[in-house]
Amino acid sequence: MTLQELEEFLSRWGKERYRARQLFRWIYQKHVDDFAEMTDLSKELRGILASSCRVSGFPAERVETSVDGTEKYLFRLGDGEAVESVLIPDEGRRTLCISSQVGCPLLCGFCATGAAGFRRNMTSAEIVQQACFAAKRLAEREERLSNVVFMGMGEPLLNVPEVSRTTGILLSQFAFGISGKRVTVSTAGIVPEMMPLALGYPVSFAVSINAARDDLRSVLMPVNRKYPLKEVVAAMRRIPLQSGRKVTAEYVLLAGVNDSAEDALALSRLFRGARIKVNLIPFNAHEASTYRAPEAGAVDRFRDVLIAGGVQTIRRERRGADIRAACGQLRIAAGGKRG
Ligand code: SF4
Repeated sequence: MTLQELEEFLSRWGKERYRARQLFRWIYQKHVDDFAEMTDLSKELRGILASSCRVSGFPAERVETSVDGTEKYLFRLGDGEAVESVLIPDEGRRTLCISSQVGCPLLCGFCATGAAGFRRNMTSAEIVQQACFAAKRLAEREERLSNVVFMGMGEPLLNVPEVSRTTGILLSQFAFGISGKRVTVSTAGIVPEMMPLALGYPVSFAVSINAARDDLRSVLMPVNRKYPLKEVVAAMRRIPLQSGRKVTAEYVLLAGVNDSAEDALALSRLFRGARIKVNLIPFNAHEASTYRAPEAGAVDRFRDVLIAGGVQTIRRERRGADIRAACGQLRIAAGGKRG
């Protein structure tokens, strides 16, 4: 439940609205899931809650830790499906990459999740519990979850109601209290959903671009046939931004496919004058794909062409390669559904 939903829920029992804020603090900030321990609630309310509600939660079925500190969690959901999250520690930041769907229907050619097919949307409870698990784990070592990215399994903008509710909880000062700047919704470019979410929450947006031409993008990302580059880039240009902020364009570099200097030049032309920065991601090779990782020289050349074209460009380091940290890989390795 969002804070507002919880307030309405409690008001049906004649309870004050601030009780919802107390509950949020217990659940999300103190990581307490037993109502009996919520000592600033009245005994009567604790009794009512204990007899009719439960704080849902699930531990990770599997935790893998990379030599670089990246942690990957595999969660088994109530119906036997599996999803995964990745926690990436980085110079003061603790970023959790969460899933919003079980599998993904968009079938991007380079993606392990897409290769495994689509099962269902996740509920907001299932999505937020990934953050609860990581936050509790971090609290045990006196660290704090600082950033959340919807970059795990699934397309968040195909599950907007549940993703919006989760975002409300992540941003709430009574729950995770993460600023919108530090919550990033990563989309393949579901154009009609981008603006409503941007107007509802001041989150950051990352859009998977991966090609500067429609013919190539349609091969890599079939969703391009529905929402072609021109519409996607126009939507990125329209997103309201606070001063100094930019929309991120994600670009997975695939050897010999989209990593040439010509591709970089075309990309810089596409983004000319826009408040867009490019995040270059050298492909993480995996068993479900025949694409190959680019040479280091090709990555540098691509970046240099973009920068020369006036486009701010960041190169994301490969993290957790030894624990299959690219989206969908652990789930495939674990078997999608048990039984
Ligand atoms: S890259 Fe993202 S949008 Fe594409 S299939 Fe994979 S999970 Fe879905």
